[in-house]
Amino acid sequence: MEPIYLTIALDTPLDRLFDYRWLPADGCPVPEIGQIALVPFGRQEIAGLIVGLSHQTEIPADKIKTVLAVRHQCPALSPQWIDLCRFAADYYQRPLGEVAIPALPKNLRVPKATSLDRNLKKLAKLQLAHEHDATPNQEPTLNAEQQAAVETIASTTGFASYLLYGVTGSGKTEVYLQTAARVLATNSQAQILILVPEINLTPQLEGNIRQRFSGIQIATLHSGMAEGERLLHWLAAHTGQARIILGTRLAILSSLPHLKMIVIDEEHDPSYKQQEGLRYSARDLAVWRAHQLGIPVVLGSATPSLETWQHAKAGRYRKLELRQRAVQSAVLPVVKIVNTEREKPSEGLTQRLVTAIRLRLEKGEQSLLFLNRRGYAPVIHCDACGWISNCTRCTAHLVMHKLDKKLRCHHCSFEQRIPRACPTCGNVDLQPLGRGTQRLEEGLKVLFPDARVFRIDADSTRLKGSAEAAFDTVHRGEVDILIGTQMVAKGHDFKNLTLVAALNPDSALFSQDFRASERLFAQLMQVAGRAGRAGQREGGNPSEVLIQTRYPDHPLYHALMAHEYPRFADDLLEERQQAAMPPFIYQALLRAEARELETAIAFLQTASQCEPVHAHAGITMNDPIPMTMVRVHNVERAQLLVESNSRPALQAFLKNWIAELRSMKVRVKWGVEIDPVDI
Ligand code: ADP
Ligand code: ZN
Ligand code: ZN
Repeated sequence: MEPIYLTIALDTPLDRLFDYRWLPADGCPVPEIGQIALVPFGRQEIAGLIVGLSHQTEIPADKIKTVLAVRHQCPALSPQWIDLCRFAADYYQRPLGEVAIPALPKNLRVPKATSLDRNLKKLAKLQLAHEHDATPNQEPTLNAEQQAAVETIASTTGFASYLLYGVTGSGKTEVYLQTAARVLATNSQAQILILVPEINLTPQLEGNIRQRFSGIQIATLHSGMAEGERLLHWLAAHTGQARIILGTRLAILSSLPHLKMIVIDEEHDPSYKQQEGLRYSARDLAVWRAHQLGIPVVLGSATPSLETWQHAKAGRYRKLELRQRAVQSAVLPVVKIVNTEREKPSEGLTQRLVTAIRLRLEKGEQSLLFLNRRGYAPVIHCDACGWISNCTRCTAHLVMHKLDKKLRCHHCSFEQRIPRACPTCGNVDLQPLGRGTQRLEEGLKVLFPDARVFRIDADSTRLKGSAEAAFDTVHRGEVDILIGTQMVAKGHDFKNLTLVAALNPDSALFSQDFRASERLFAQLMQVAGRAGRAGQREGGNPSEVLIQTRYPDHPLYHALMAHEYPRFADDLLEERQQAAMPPFIYQALLRAEARELETAIAFLQTASQCEPVHAHAGITMNDPIPMTMVRVHNVERAQLLVESNSRPALQAFLKNWIAELRSMKVRVKWGVEIDPVDI
């Protein structure tokens, strides 16, 4: 028998594949492409993905190492899946193994995969469990626009990208679910992938899906799962048993052999972008994957990303619009601006807001106060000498957390006790500056001593499962005034909520990040959408959204009042086009980290010259600059932006450039991000 060599992708930064010899053992079938193999690597044993099989190798016979084991328990990953990883690897300029291997559940990658056999057995049980927990619920009759959307998507043959555009409550989810039902009904194997920004913050969707599709196996995939559970759900998807897969961004790289439709809910949400390691965009990969498989992809949003909006304008994505709220009685909340220059807030609240809250309390309705800043105060300060609480390790303030008497850095998690006196001059009268959710809570309790005030933010929900419990408390009506950060903006449908107020949204208006206003608009729309979902009750207050601002004439707030996302988006797009910014140009960012800022900058300086830019048409290399937040945890950070108006030109340049960079011997830590979102 001729020798057999396996070409294997391994999770290492080395940009190459590795050959190993495979020796037949009694009863072991010849491995297949797409199987997972355990191999020696250096002094370790690691798992890799078999991507080639051959009778030859260029590795000399005395150098080649032997495969230790092949995971026959796990069916081979499909060529399409490997191609997806290959595309992501090329596009994000990473070795294939760095994409493919981390996309697999850890239990498939560890040397001892004993749990695997047990889990395969468990799969059957998972299915049964899901058949029980459901009483099928009634599908509402779709309105004409929903009906048209379902019809269009479900009758798609081949690839198509749809933008399902409609405000919160316009019935987008209903469109996803009924389209999914149609697709599942026409193909007995079909799988549907539904991506959501955060599963834990949207348990209602999961509940709805489980109810609606009782008798069908549903898998969930997100980073909060225990490894065993993750393996189980991943295998259910990989073997085709799970027909609906509900997941966060990481689910886009799951193996789905019979995938027939992809849905991305709240497609504009920043959490679809992975911000460490392989910095991929799950939304962009979803569109590629749909194209690869010739299936529809549905991007749903009330405030589409400008990238998506531009695709729709250019006709590459087809826009399906839902113009009204789905429930007859539900109306769009009225958005009002409160000018804080004229009406000074006390404890963060203007008189108008206080009155509005009071009206809700009288009728037994709920109010939601949105303040995207946790802690008590963002900083404390000494009036006598000007000292302020800065983190010594980061370019950031230490945030005052009064409840546990700590100053805490939200970037490096450094903490210390709140000092009794100013560390520089000894003054004992240190003052909190500004307002976080804890301070707001304190003020509200004084102002409304009889109201039930409740706070939901990352601090109040630190324990696993406590966020869900907190939301349940609100749903049970045990809360009169809810204070929350962006955590409360997502997914939840608070039936008794008629007032939403944004306390201090202005800071994002003047951010250095050119995407800040796009994000602020989306966030405010989303949080505004929490109000008025159920419609006005007999004798109750109308749904109202109050925005406290010093800039009442800002176009963003005017667009918000008029519920005019299209005009706002069109204006922003025009600005972006004139300034040659995304989505009209393509960017890549080289980041460098070092102990000294000069080292990082010097590396970027060298990097900017190591591959001749002029040899590549249409590439612009900017100057290296320190990052806005230059120091985090005592590491200095700088960046270098490369731009082009041609994606292929940028890709071609990056390929050469990164190969050059890899060959340089440097002491800095560096990484390249494609399509960066916070620069
Ligand atoms: P979105 O996803 O756009 O926020 P949903 O699909 O969640 O909107 O719909 C909002 C509410 O309206 C939900 O309670 C949903 O069950 C209900 N709903 C959706 N479509 C209809 C319809 N055609 N008739 C009646 N109720 C509907
Ligand atoms: Zn002082
Ligand atoms: Zn810090």
